[in-house]
Amino acid sequence: MSLAYSLSTSDSSFLIIHSPNKPSASSIASGLINPIAGKRLETVADFDELYKISSAFYSQIAQLHRKENYYECKEILRIFRNEKEKETFHKKYQQDHSSIYVGPSFEQADSLDINGVKTPFGGFITKNAAVFSYQKFLQDAHDNFKANMVEALVDYSTIQHNPESCTIHIHEYTISCKHLVFCDGWHSSYNSLFSNIAFEPAKGEICLIKAPDLQQDYVISNSFAIIPKGNQLFSCSATFAWNDYSDSPTEIGKTELISRIDELLSCNWHMIDHKAGIRPTMFDRKAIIGFHPEFNNIAVFGGLGTKGALWAPKLADLTKSLLLGEKPYIPHDISVSRWWLNT
Ligand SMILES: Cc1cc2nc3c(=O)[nH]c(=O)nc-3n(C[C@H](O)[C@H](O)[C@H](O)COP(=O)(O)OP(=O)(O)OC[C@H]3O[C@@H](n4cnc5c(N)ncnc54)[C@H](O)[C@@H]3O)c2cc1C
Repeated sequence: MSLAYSLSTSDSSFLIIHSPNKPSASSIASGLINPIAGKRLETVADFDELYKISSAFYSQIAQLHRKENYYECKEILRIFRNEKEKETFHKKYQQDHSSIYVGPSFEQADSLDINGVKTPFGGFITKNAAVFSYQKFLQDAHDNFKANMVEALVDYSTIQHNPESCTIHIHEYTISCKHLVFCDGWHSSYNSLFSNIAFEPAKGEICLIKAPDLQQDYVISNSFAIIPKGNQLFSCSATFAWNDYSDSPTEIGKTELISRIDELLSCNWHMIDHKAGIRPTMFDRKAIIGFHPEFNNIAVFGGLGTKGALWAPKLADLTKSLLLGEKPYIPHDISVSRWWLNT
């Protein structure tokens, strides 16, 4: 949908083929945009640039639809899970007072006037984070691009292509186009055109809880995040599993979610909903964009992994430029061609 919005600023015509029966990561993602992620508390590469691009991109779309922004700035109450994490933080950031993402550290959450949160090792405030509303964005995008959209399941084996055009067979129709771009998330891993690529899809389970006594001011995270959604509701995100490619929530996932929430919260809460999806993660944790190295009219826009909300706008813009023949510079580490180097 980000690519559709980018393309709509040019005069090119496009068709989105989308299957509502294929599970989508975006339809369940919690949308946290976090500058300091993971156990090692590293600042996300190029965060500053990506944040500026994505916040401007989503704001423009919200203005276009006269809707509230899809992007809400939030601070994160980052809780240390153990002494080691606390040490890592102090080593990394004590001297580096220049980080615009690191706010004050604390020993107890009640020193910040926050109740219902367990902080046995203390934590710190992450600044300049945000929560992106995937679901509102998708809903508005679907409404906006209704005329450009066909609902159908693409059978990859029916795709034909030559240097001049590509064709896809859907029901009794044949669709011909100049370029074909696969934006099909982790499903690209079943596409024989991309069999060189090392996909490593990661299943994630997520739940919605009600916690009447918990404040909505902060995201609470110890790499597992509790994200305020209004009306005493919180999205709790997420588990990771690597060998299960079904989008059904599991009992094991539910048990893990409960344990991760209990690790963070001392207040009362109960689960309202539980869902699962598959992240389009790559072996090297980088995105994949660009034309297929052997077929110059077939492209891919994927590998968004755990950071779809942050990465999609910049990558959409680069992909648009590629399609328009503008030859943009695509860094090697996100170019699809990196997977063809040794062939
Ligand atoms: C539990 C969980 C939590 C997450 N939390 C966050 C988060 O906090 N922040 C963040 O930024 N990201 C998060 N993500 C990651 C985020 O969801 C992804 O990076 C992003 O949504 C990927 O978007 P995509 O369009 O590439 O793939 P998808 O959203 O999976 O979309 C792929 C689309 O392709 C369609 N499709 C596939 N195959 C076919 C076919 N053969 N024919 C027709 N259509 C097809 C599908 O129907 C779907 O619409 C999370 C993901 C999960 C699973």
